[in-house]
Amino acid sequence: MAQTKDLKVLFQQRRDQAFKALEDRKQEIYTFIPKVKILDQEIKKMGLKIAMAALKNPNDAQTEMKFIEEEIKMLKREKFILLTEHNIPQDYLQVDFICKTCEDTGFLKDGSPCHCYKQELIKRSYTFSNITDVLDRENFSTFDLSVFSDVYDDGLQKSPRDHMRIVLDRALAFTAHFKDKTNDNLLFFGATGLGKTFLCNCIAKELLDNGYTVVYQTAFRIIDTISNYRFTNPKTEDLKAEYDLLITTDLLIIDDLGTEMINSFTNTELFNLINGRLLQDKKTIISTNFTPSQISELYSERISSRLFGHYEFLPFSGQDLRWEV
Ligand SMILES: [Zn+2]
Repeated sequence: MAQTKDLKVLFQQRRDQAFKALEDRKQEIYTFIPKVKILDQEIKKMGLKIAMAALKNPNDAQTEMKFIEEEIKMLKREKFILLTEHNIPQDYLQVDFICKTCEDTGFLKDGSPCHCYKQELIKRSYTFSNITDVLDRENFSTFDLSVFSDVYDDGLQKSPRDHMRIVLDRALAFTAHFKDKTNDNLLFFGATGLGKTFLCNCIAKELLDNGYTVVYQTAFRIIDTISNYRFTNPKTEDLKAEYDLLITTDLLIIDDLGTEMINSFTNTELFNLINGRLLQDKKTIISTNFTPSQISELYSERISSRLFGHYEFLPFSGQDLRWEV
């Protein structure tokens, strides 16, 4: 449990690798087109000259610097032409960072963590274990409406398939407008085996692919994390980071609401979490086997009012598809 330390090492390695790979590509080009090496050396020399000129009296240096800059431009143009003639893309001789936003430092200019850093932290803190395998299988492109019956059940206005189509469209709209739509939260309810987890996975995958941070945990595990944080003193950097992620992640999916112990402690903490995210305009999806009336019976008035007031309740109905164990 030393995630934050591990991450520092990981990001340093990423940067080292990116620069090493660039160096390898450079050497390859130098062997292939030796003239590029000469040009690079010239450019480097000119760069040094600029640095030297800057140290002189600024008034004298200006003309000289302008002259050197012109020369650098010409050298670069020559290099550009050489590379183009040999069909080598220009970015071949640029550092290829995994994350262009933070250039694999993990942090932005203002010192706040980059989305890639947060996602790595989530992976470690929340054992997003084999989630990538699951997400390869369960995503919007594999979501198959035909597994839902198109037979109208007694008393229902729609077939389960028609009904699921509406839910699916809502989930697609949720992801499509994730960035711009504010205060958009969903609550999936219905018995086990109707595809709630599958749909949560679809949404998680889509947002992860688009660079958002997603924490996907059962209510049980979330409460566990929070109690750990509350009752451990002094708090380690890891504990704090893990707890903060629950509030700051772009999307929090609280799976299986109702599997946690329901008492005054969990009611308070759950309220703080749900309310804290609403106040920060962070989106949340909840899935539960409880019906809306059970929710209002089992949870505090404060929690229910937040859920009923700020979440769109989407029922899952039909036959057990055995998707969920
Ligand atoms: Zn980044």
